[in-house]
Amino acid sequence: MAHTIAVIAGDGIGTEVMPEGIRALEAAAKRFNIDLEFSVFEFGSCDYYLEHGKMLPDDWFEQLKDFDALFYGAVGWPEKVPDHISLWGSLLQFRRQFDQYINLRPCKLMPGIKSPLAGREAGDIDFYVVRENTEGEYSSVGGKMFEGTDREVVIQETIMTRTGVDRVLKYAFELAQTRPRKKLTSATKSNGISITMPYWDERVVEMSKGYPEIAVDKFHIDILTANFVLHPDWFDVVVGSNLFGDILSDLGPACTGTIGIAPSANINPEGKFPSLFEPVHGSAPDIAGKGVANPIGQIWSGAMMLEHLGYKEAADAIVTAIEEVLSEGDSQVLTRDVGGQGTTASLGRAIADKLAV
Ligand code: ATP
Ligand code: MG
Repeated sequence: MAHTIAVIAGDGIGTEVMPEGIRALEAAAKRFNIDLEFSVFEFGSCDYYLEHGKMLPDDWFEQLKDFDALFYGAVGWPEKVPDHISLWGSLLQFRRQFDQYINLRPCKLMPGIKSPLAGREAGDIDFYVVRENTEGEYSSVGGKMFEGTDREVVIQETIMTRTGVDRVLKYAFELAQTRPRKKLTSATKSNGISITMPYWDERVVEMSKGYPEIAVDKFHIDILTANFVLHPDWFDVVVGSNLFGDILSDLGPACTGTIGIAPSANINPEGKFPSLFEPVHGSAPDIAGKGVANPIGQIWSGAMMLEHLGYKEAADAIVTAIEEVLSEGDSQVLTRDVGGQGTTASLGRAIADKLAV
């Protein structure tokens, strides 16, 4: 049976890298005999907003809920629509309504890519950041008192539920189990945040009892960020609350070079709702329309989507194709951000060609 994929390219370079993402997926699908069916949607973009006064149609949930996955480009065009409208009106709706409680980002230094960390080469950095994506510090619970006076007080609560914490930890432990090093690092701050973070630590200890083969450690978020920079080779799977995961999931990919390469997934692991796969980068208005955006973030996100759908071999083949093209280092093929003079299409085609064996 065909796997149905809803395609939302969004704005700016999202519309340029998306065709290359699909090109690679089609090449992998052909080689591994996978039946993928793409349906393209115009909503979820600022152009749609300008025409309709909203980012999504009222029945978007109905339209999308039965797809096997969502393949997203990038959203946002601050000159036309403020970011809080475009982002809240689309991507964040999907994450929430489809209960995509895992945000997953691989942080892998690829061959030929210069890490901002001196002396690091491909193979030195290869870990995942797993972020809790629905609760924690990003609650809207709180309030203001004495507003406008010099006695102003503002409060915002952190919410952790047993279900919410356990499900992200379970996902992270299961992921660690599939990795050769079988190591899990928990991000905490239980020395300063005295109620929620000790609870998080307790749940990690409790969960670890079910995974005796996983080596578990924890770091306070301050020293953990330092160690991302100083010792990225220590990490295998790193799990954090919504806020800590947010910080780490930008820092991790930043340690592995250009933002144009990093992929991400917003996952509903049970498959009750579709999961969403998108590059880490945004719509990049500064380079949009020039055909020079790096399509690897989109293509790699497609690989994560295939893995999620159960096609690990095909997913690995896409990542290998990316690695091969980057290792070859042909400046006519590579985009500017990775030192070439090529285009979105030249890099996308080169990767698809590697897949078409
Ligand atoms: P967000 O939309 O998440 O708020 P942003 O708008 O701040 O992010 P991006 O749109 O990701 O940031 O762009 C940040 C910088 O990285 C820009 O200078 C942009 O040109 C560059 N960049 C982003 N994506 C790519 C890409 N795929 N290829 C090359 N350069 C990129
Ligand atoms: Mg942006």
